[in-house]
Amino acid sequence: MALIVQKYGGTSVGSPERITEVAKRVIRWREKGDDVVVVVSAMSGETNRLVGLINALDPEGSAREKDVILSTGEQVTIGLLTLCLQSMGCEARSYTGQQAKILTDSAHSKARIREIDGAPIKADLEAGKVVIVAGFQGVDADGSITTLGRGGSDTTAVALAVALKADECQIYTDVDGVYTTDPRVVSDARHIPKLALEEMLEMASQGSKVLQIRAVEFAYKYDMPIRVLSSFDEGDNGKSTLVTREEDIMEEVMVRGVAFNRDEAQLTIKGVPDKPGVAFDILGPISDANIEVDMILQNVGSDGTTDFTFTIHRNDYTEAMRILTVTGESLGASACSGDDRIAKVSIVGGGMRSHAGVASQMFKALAKDGINIRMISTSEIKISVVVDEKYLELAVRTLHDAFGLSEEVA
Ligand code: ADP
Ligand code: ASP
Ligand code: MG
Repeated sequence: MALIVQKYGGTSVGSPERITEVAKRVIRWREKGDDVVVVVSAMSGETNRLVGLINALDPEGSAREKDVILSTGEQVTIGLLTLCLQSMGCEARSYTGQQAKILTDSAHSKARIREIDGAPIKADLEAGKVVIVAGFQGVDADGSITTLGRGGSDTTAVALAVALKADECQIYTDVDGVYTTDPRVVSDARHIPKLALEEMLEMASQGSKVLQIRAVEFAYKYDMPIRVLSSFDEGDNGKSTLVTREEDIMEEVMVRGVAFNRDEAQLTIKGVPDKPGVAFDILGPISDANIEVDMILQNVGSDGTTDFTFTIHRNDYTEAMRILTVTGESLGASACSGDDRIAKVSIVGGGMRSHAGVASQMFKALAKDGINIRMISTSEIKISVVVDEKYLELAVRTLHDAFGLSEEVA
C-alpha cells in the first residue's frame, strides 16, 4: 500500500462541481488501497479577492493580520472537500496548517517551513481516514498564522510528502504537465513527460509558476519525486510530467524550455564611489528590508564613480526605491532611477553545460526581432535577459522557435 500526497490548485477546486470531481478522484485512489493525504488551495480567485480587500483597507498594515486574512481561503476548501467526501461515504478529516503542525518561521507572507510533526495525520491515516490539509499556511513559534508566498500550496504538499515519507507527490492543476513554455503564451509548446529536478528548479526560479520554487527546492533537497497532472482529465491515466532526479532522465537536451517573469522591476543608482564595500552599502539596506535581489549589474567605473543596477520583485518596487533614495543621498549618488515595466526571459537546459554558443544563438534570435536586451545573467544551465515588458511575449515565442521547442507536426 502506497502513501500518496495529492495537491489540488485553485481552478481544480474552483466550484462545488470541481470539488465533487476531486472527491471522486480521491475515492478512486482510496479504492486502489492507497493512503491519501490531500492538500488544497483556495478556490480560484479567492486569494486575489482577499488581497483586494486588504489593499482597499490598509495595504501598509500589519503583516501578521494580513496572513490571518489571506489564510482563510484554504480553510473554506478543506471544509468543503471534507464535507463532500463524507457525503459520499468516505471517512475524511480536515486540518488547518496549525492543526497539521506545520511550523514555520515568522516571515509573514513568505514564511519558510521549519518542521512538520506528522503524528496526528499518521494516526488518522491508520484509522482509515483521508486527510485534507489546508495549503499555503502554517504557524510560527508564537502561534501566529503564517503564509508561504503565492503558489505556496505546492510547497505544503511537497513538505508534507517528505515529512510523511510518501511514495509520490502529485500536483493536480489545470494543465497536464510541464511544457517547454507556458502553453497559454505559446500554443504549440511541447509537453515534457520527464524532467530533471535541477531543470525544474531553474524553470521555476525564472518564473514558470506551474510549480512554486520552494516546492521544487524541497523536492530536490529531500529527493521527493513530483508528478504534475491535470485534474480536468477524466480518468487516472492521462498525460503527466514526472519531475525527478537527473540520473533518472535518459535524454539530456540543450534547451529544455523558456521561462519568463513579468513581476520584475529594475532600479539604478548612478555616480556612486567606485570603491570596496559600495555594493554592500547599496544592497545591505535592501536585504535588511527582506527584499530579494535577483540580477545585479555594476558598470566599470571611469572617473572614480560607478553605476549600479539590480532587479527585484515588482511588489517591492516602491519600498526598494524609497530605501535606494536614502542610500543615494548618503553615498552622494548623482541619480536614482527605476522602471517597473520590465520582464525577464530565460532559456533553461541541462545540456547547456556541454554546448558552447547557446548564448550567441539566443542574442542573435532576439536581435533579429529587434528586441533590445537590458541586462544578462547566466548560470551553468540557464541564460536570462531583461527586456521591456512590451516585448515579453514576442521574446518568448522567438526563443521557443529559435531552439526548436515547438510541437512537431506529425
Ligand atoms: P494551480 O492553481 O493549480 O496551482 P497555477 O496557475 O499555479 O495552477 O499553475 C498552472 C499554470 O502554470 C498553467 O495554467 C500555465 O498557464 C502555467 N505555466 C507556466 N509555465 C508553464 C510551463 N512551462 N508548463 C506548464 N504550465 C505552465
Ligand atoms: N491560494 C494561494 C495563492 O493563490 C496559494 C496557492 O494557491 O498555492 O497563491
Ligand atoms: Mg500554483
